[in-house]
Amino acid sequence: MKHCGNMLLVKAIHGCLYTGLLFSTITLACPDYQDLPFFKAANGSRLDKAELLKRYYTVEPSEEATQAPSTWPGSTLPYCFENDNTKTLLKDLVEDGWKRWQTSGVDYNIHMGEYNNCPAPVNGNVTKGIGYLLIQANTDGRLLTTIGTQFYSEGNGAFMLFDPNPDLAMGDAVANMAHEIGHAWGFYHEQQRPYFWNKVQYAQATGPTNQINFVCTNLADYVDKAGTPNGDSNDVCHSEATAKSRGFSALEYLPMKMSFTAELELADFDWKSIMLYGSTIGGKVVNGVRANVYTRGHDGAVNPHNTSPSQLDVDRFNAMYTKKAKYKNPCLINHGCNPKYASYMNLKVKCKKKLS
Ligand SMILES: [Zn+2]
Repeated sequence: MKHCGNMLLVKAIHGCLYTGLLFSTITLACPDYQDLPFFKAANGSRLDKAELLKRYYTVEPSEEATQAPSTWPGSTLPYCFENDNTKTLLKDLVEDGWKRWQTSGVDYNIHMGEYNNCPAPVNGNVTKGIGYLLIQANTDGRLLTTIGTQFYSEGNGAFMLFDPNPDLAMGDAVANMAHEIGHAWGFYHEQQRPYFWNKVQYAQATGPTNQINFVCTNLADYVDKAGTPNGDSNDVCHSEATAKSRGFSALEYLPMKMSFTAELELADFDWKSIMLYGSTIGGKVVNGVRANVYTRGHDGAVNPHNTSPSQLDVDRFNAMYTKKAKYKNPCLINHGCNPKYASYMNLKVKCKKKLS
């Protein structure tokens, strides 16, 4: 590539926007994968695979569609945007959110993308269906994603509702997207592990102590939704099911026991997981400051927003998915795994400026 003249390079890069594969085969040899950060996570884990599979709160891996949520087959997550407007709003965010997982160490054979298998729109919109994640935009603050994939009946399917407003949740739209992408691949919230909570005080809990000091009254919708909880383990502040029945946001914090998920009891908790809420998530705003919904049990500290996947998130991800990807990722220059990706993106920005 260094032999190319500047003009030629610009032309080639521009062509690459539409035909990545063509560009790659002409000018780019695949890099030495051992040099990439992705291998460090896969090779550097201190846990064996069996332990990893039980360690975090995720779906049970399966290559077949199952009734309960499970992993995407072929280590591949195809997605479709609901319409062109959604694509304009969210395409870059989805790619940047996924890149945050890749640069954190997710194996390059695990891939998500648009694979041209999206159904034709009906009345302007692609609808939910089997075999892909439908991405839908909203402007009313909803960030909601189905967990992994499962057996869906006709007309149903995995989906992500995403509001790109950068003031929401972590105050970082790419981080919010990376968290939702975690759900899409099969991760539940770290704080909802049953063992995270005291089994005497909280419904569905299995642990001996609370890992966090949960301040239910600091949730933004407490006044509107909680009613008058009586303090027992089945009230709206102690039971995920009760909170859910009232549409109260405590449902995102409280323990959730599911027979079909794997969780190793006595395991350490990952305070750096992108799937763990920071202390202020969902908190009410008092005098312009968002209240803490919890502090950490072991040291009383406020937990910051984890805006990138932790090493343990990545270890779990790589262990959960096989590396038999249906769409082999050749590590093209426009993929996050390519060492020349950053310079490619810079050139892409320059090209765009030149063209506009
Ligand atoms: Zn979440």
